[in-house]
Amino acid sequence: MQSTKFQKRLFGTNGVRGIVGKDLTPNLALTIGEALGTMRKGCIAVGRDTRTSGETLVKAVKSGLLATGCNVVDCGILPTPALQYLIKEQFDGGAMITASHNPPEYNGVKIIEADGTEMGDEETLRLEQLIFEPSFSPESWEYIGQETNAPYLITKYIQAIVHHFPENVGSGISVVVDPGSGPACLTTPQILNGMGCTVLTLNGVMDGTFPGRLPEPSPEGLKDLAELVVSSGAAFGVAHDGDADRAVFIDEKGRFIEENREFALIAQHTCHQKKGTLVTPVSTSLVVEMVVKNEGCTITYTPVGSIYVARTMRSMMEKGDKVIFGGEGNGGLIFPDHQFCRDGGMTAAMMVFILASTGQQLSTLVNALPRRSMIKDKISTSRGTQVLESLKKSYSQESLDLTDGVKILRKDSWALVRASGTEPIIRIIIDADSDHHSQIFHDELMDHILKITTG
Ligand code: MG
Repeated sequence: MQSTKFQKRLFGTNGVRGIVGKDLTPNLALTIGEALGTMRKGCIAVGRDTRTSGETLVKAVKSGLLATGCNVVDCGILPTPALQYLIKEQFDGGAMITASHNPPEYNGVKIIEADGTEMGDEETLRLEQLIFEPSFSPESWEYIGQETNAPYLITKYIQAIVHHFPENVGSGISVVVDPGSGPACLTTPQILNGMGCTVLTLNGVMDGTFPGRLPEPSPEGLKDLAELVVSSGAAFGVAHDGDADRAVFIDEKGRFIEENREFALIAQHTCHQKKGTLVTPVSTSLVVEMVVKNEGCTITYTPVGSIYVARTMRSMMEKGDKVIFGGEGNGGLIFPDHQFCRDGGMTAAMMVFILASTGQQLSTLVNALPRRSMIKDKISTSRGTQVLESLKKSYSQESLDLTDGVKILRKDSWALVRASGTEPIIRIIIDADSDHHSQIFHDELMDHILKITTG
């Protein structure tokens, strides 16, 4: 599916992000609030993750919203998907203060539309226009908005996920949850408990200094989790990024499950139960397409970025297509019968359901998936456009997918080359059926690219 990426000045694919006090100041947050309040009227929900800068930034955003006549409901500290769920259910829009997986010194703002999805490109450009060239005026005294605090609303999100599954389906399953001191401290243990699981937590106290591990749930950062899974005899471990829209897993043997394989496992289970289309970016490993097709389902590819996945899922469903699942190969998965955004709590719950339904161990299920070998690389260069043009010409005899960058498709492998929109780098991903084949494909492409970038 071809769709255009717009060049935004402030907002990236996941909202505004930056170092607090340098790129992201309370003044900017106030302007974002005023701009949003000018574009969207009604009752706006706000929330934040556990970062130390969250309180000052959320207050600034709220002030801008109130001044431009919106009513504000402050949902307190909660995961991004929890706020998105609440907005979809009962608000006219929202703003989430989070920097997701970035280190503690970062923070950001994500704008959420009334349907619970992140604001799309065209609307974000309008918002940026208002931020860079402010033309709003504060409402007069009788129209200034009112604020309500509603931290208890988080329970609605927890209950929605628990009730999505058969009662007590997790009974007898023991799970270690590592929310990484983030907002999922308030949700994922409660969700899994509600499903009947026995839950142990690690880094389970909210703390914006992230004393246990960084917000990115990397294999290195999850060594303590892996140890606790093995020593406690748990069925698996689950960890979230800083705003819990992603979930990654450790199997019962203490091994990190590569996120494309996590995606493939949940896709396999979903496609086994219902038939339809799965939506994912062109950067996702072929292991997902293989299991999807094996179950008689179809796959649709989008540009890289969860917003493109979510919006493609929505537009396909509006046209009458049956879309059953979507997500990215980074642990960010979208369950359309729940909501149209990545949801780490729902992903953790789904893993419990899969183990309960199959009666198998997680390592057995993952080992049964087709084996793939992925190489990710990047090159610093300002000649990104030239590289892509040259690849298009040189590989024109092969099967190409130009959804995002240049993807060269071969029988059992593919390579994707993309130029970053914000930095002078190009990213290269190779996905093949063996380490040997991915290395050969990688070397061939690097030869070609280096001739252009160093020539
Ligand atoms: Mg995130």
